[in-house]
Amino acid sequence: MLVIMKVNASQSSLDRVQEEIEKLGYTPRPIIGDSRTVVGVLGQKPLRGKQHLQALPDVSDVLEISTPYKLASREWQPNDTIVNVGGTRIGGSKVSIIAGPCSIESYEQTKTVGEAVKAAGGHILRGGAFKPRTSPYSFQGMGVEGLKILKQVGEEVGLPTVTEVTDTAVLEITAQHTDMLQIGTRNMQNFTLIKEAARTGMPIFLKRGMSATVKETILAAEYILNEGNEKVVLCERGIRTFVDHTRNTLDVSAIPAFQRLTHLPVVVDPSHAAGKRSKVLPLSLAGVAAGAQGVMVEVHPNPEEALSDGPQQLLPSQFKDLVDRIRLVAEAVGRKLD
Ligand code: PEP
Ligand code: MN
Repeated sequence: MLVIMKVNASQSSLDRVQEEIEKLGYTPRPIIGDSRTVVGVLGQKPLRGKQHLQALPDVSDVLEISTPYKLASREWQPNDTIVNVGGTRIGGSKVSIIAGPCSIESYEQTKTVGEAVKAAGGHILRGGAFKPRTSPYSFQGMGVEGLKILKQVGEEVGLPTVTEVTDTAVLEITAQHTDMLQIGTRNMQNFTLIKEAARTGMPIFLKRGMSATVKETILAAEYILNEGNEKVVLCERGIRTFVDHTRNTLDVSAIPAFQRLTHLPVVVDPSHAAGKRSKVLPLSLAGVAAGAQGVMVEVHPNPEEALSDGPQQLLPSQFKDLVDRIRLVAEAVGRKLD
């Protein structure tokens, strides 16, 4: 439920509403707006006391939220959330470029890519140190050594960073080395990990589970918001479908769906959706044209020798071309990169 206060509601009326919500056994969450204050009512269903709250001084209206998620809903927060990641902002009408290698493999590899990402106009450097691989015999990532390289290169080239946290056991060390924590597709419903990551207070880059619906993805985000962390970025990275011409199907229609239902920024990851380099450019442009507030792509100086996801990683020159093309599409749909 949402208790909408009158425009000039007094502080004592606001305090009273919060007290009454607590007396009913729920948690009040005030949202102070430009013109009026709204108090969210959080708790297990069914919510009671609507008429009682309606009758309190300075209350304009009490609305029920129709969706199973509350804090993530547009009803709760009509304005777009902007997430600050180490000084750069994701969300609103801006298009953010997040790029870097699939895996951190060495200082030289990461530095080459970091410089290319910065030079082409990218905003955030990505790179995996703990890799969730399908096969136990595949490269599992450099671990803490990789985190150190990512942090160092980010500082040297002047870009904030994002990296995946795969387990609560490595949460603290990962949080110490990056500006945003990524929750990968395989962990989207690992609620223990999500809640602990949320409690760091850091921005969370939440990837849609490869078989998750839009609603399930928003409910995963709700776990983060419910921990008091509002810095959530959603990522559409492709879902499992029956087709075999592509690794996953980039669900472009999820972008406007997420944006209509939630206030959170939405980024597309065409690299993991396509699994093939040739599809990364068209899917990136489609994502931005459909309203994505960012694009995450993988870049490697020598994709043939990459230790993971070689076939989908772009060369630095291809990445530069991609950013230039994204800029044109962004401008064509009334948005910009900077
Ligand atoms: C990644 O971005 O490095 C990654 C493993 O992606 P996903 O979780 O979407 O597969
Ligand atoms: Mn990858």
